[in-house]
Amino acid sequence: MSVINSAEFAIAREQLAGKVAVASLPRLADAVLDHAAELVWSLEGGVDKLERPYLFLQVSGELQLRCQRCLKAMPFQLACETVLTQFADEALLDEAEEADEDLEGLLIDPALDVLALVEEEVLLALPYAPRHDRCDADDVMIVSDKPNPFAVLAQLKTRKAE
Ligand SMILES: [Zn+2]
Repeated sequence: MSVINSAEFAIAREQLAGKVAVASLPRLADAVLDHAAELVWSLEGGVDKLERPYLFLQVSGELQLRCQRCLKAMPFQLACETVLTQFADEALLDEAEEADEDLEGLLIDPALDVLALVEEEVLLALPYAPRHDRCDADDVMIVSDKPNPFAVLAQLKTRKAE
């Protein structure tokens, strides 16, 4: 388990990276099907223009989500990047988040569990209700309502085969 002092880590501009299996992140394991899947993560500390310590977290990997319609597996390519700006207390954090709606705040934690942070950020990055575009076409996935060029292509292929 990796535990860091979040402020000291940032001020010293430290870096940490690793891999973690879904199986060792219990809340994520509840949300995905393939527990052997591995996530690659990296954490970088720094101090921003306003002298605030921050953590830059990147996580990537391929997860198998459960389609909310047919309950079968659905591949999801995860690639998230988050800057977590750190604050000494809740009031400062709230104030900063109000002033900048894109800001993601984090309370300074002298014993921050890095893997718990990774898990939290991955859970936030997952689509709320993943659904296949067409549940009978296993290889097609859609994670939003935007038209997906691959889905269109798959439909064309299916039509040709009929
Ligand atoms: Zn489905």
